[in-house]
Amino acid sequence: MSTPRSHIVVMKFGGTSVEDATAITRTANIVAGRVRKGLNPIVVVSAMSKVTDTLLAAAAAAGKNDREGALRLSDGLRTRHLKTAGDLVSGDRLTSLQLNIHHDFDALDDLLRGISAVGELTPRTEDNVVSFGERLSSQMVAAAFAEQGMSSTHVDARTVILTDAHYGKATPNEHAIENALVSQVLPLVDLGKVPVMGGFIGSCDGITTTLGRGGSDYTGALVGGGLHAGAIEIWTDVNGIMTTDPRICADALRVKTISFEEAAELAYFGAKVLHPATILPAVQKNIPVWVLNSRNAENEGTKIVATPPPCASPFKSIAAKKKLTIIDIVASRMLLAHGFLKMVFDVFDKHHCAIDMVSTSEVSISVTVDSKEALPAICAELSQIADVKYESNKALICLVGEDIRGHAGISGQVFTAISHVNVRMISQGASEINMSFMINEEDVEEAIRSLHNRFFVSPDPTVFDTEARTVVAGKV
Ligand code: ASP
Ligand code: MG
Repeated sequence: MSTPRSHIVVMKFGGTSVEDATAITRTANIVAGRVRKGLNPIVVVSAMSKVTDTLLAAAAAAGKNDREGALRLSDGLRTRHLKTAGDLVSGDRLTSLQLNIHHDFDALDDLLRGISAVGELTPRTEDNVVSFGERLSSQMVAAAFAEQGMSSTHVDARTVILTDAHYGKATPNEHAIENALVSQVLPLVDLGKVPVMGGFIGSCDGITTTLGRGGSDYTGALVGGGLHAGAIEIWTDVNGIMTTDPRICADALRVKTISFEEAAELAYFGAKVLHPATILPAVQKNIPVWVLNSRNAENEGTKIVATPPPCASPFKSIAAKKKLTIIDIVASRMLLAHGFLKMVFDVFDKHHCAIDMVSTSEVSISVTVDSKEALPAICAELSQIADVKYESNKALICLVGEDIRGHAGISGQVFTAISHVNVRMISQGASEINMSFMINEEDVEEAIRSLHNRFFVSPDPTVFDTEARTVVAGKV
């Protein structure tokens, strides 16, 4: 394993942290702060907020021969980028940035015209269209940093993030990326420069690829992992991972440290801070990943580590996922005969419908899914081998904590806390760090509040930001 470069910090900024000139200036100040501390930042940025969605909409319009519609969307984006550039930099720097922006939008428009002419959008072309978001934002951010007196350099991420040709969700080649980082990015860092690159985008044999939606975190982790950085910072617009949704529970607390596995469990359940699979390249090298708030840079955020410190509370966080459907499949004749589960799963698989939770009894199997589109087709097929019925508007509540293991009788405590709520289906997470159960959607708030009151009355101050609660309480 390579030697850690503890002076390098990879700082990834999401769409809201680069959404306009104010946000980019705030981002520049945060990065300058790290430089003042003697650290060497490498900055990875998302496209400006909503730009990715707009580019995808433009590509889709072009794919349906709607040339004008596609170009109108592109025009709106051109105006927004030029306006932001004008707000951020001036003089020669502005002239050259404007030129680059026009150059990119001209290329994008050519592409959109081409797509409309053939009326066909391939995944490869779609990746090309959508890559403009990060290509543009990274150039603007690099220029803004320079304007603020930082020695920044723009790096085209496509020369570094080398992937396979799976357009739309390419798999990075970590070995090739590490080599590219060492030969192209490290020398810049060694010169005291701040490299700025777009997240999400990469290339395969010179053709643009993308890592999938939300892929900028992945880029951050690949860069941090590849260079064995001292830390990776994911800058978003929340204070970190919370004990539960603060909109439901006003006394939700920030979790100071959480394990990678706990974060992974939570990510699935609406705690949309980041997608943990994407930070795996960092976790594997034991590089801490921080989730921080660019609107509240003083806040310490949440640190995600491979092995968390012991916690006196059984749970770190409670999350909920709504809009689920539960499907009961009763196979009375087959008594769950050998091969039955496989047949059931194959049907879901065939319709690309992911199953969230499964529970089985002697004659029946219940599964939950989060999309309804394929259900009529799935049920039609399943009814050839079983009796099938489904119920929508369900929600999954999930309690996550590494320390569930050490607490005897924990499920008793959980279900006592919500004894007034009707529980439909229970799953003991195979990972042993997750307890989840299914309830009606309308009971979610009540269940979360009851559980939070039960399990976070006296939270462990080494793991949770209890000071925030003292401050709030002090004000009352
Ligand atoms: N801009 C891309 C997206 O919106 C990647 C990212 O922001 O992480 O999915
Ligand atoms: Mg994101």
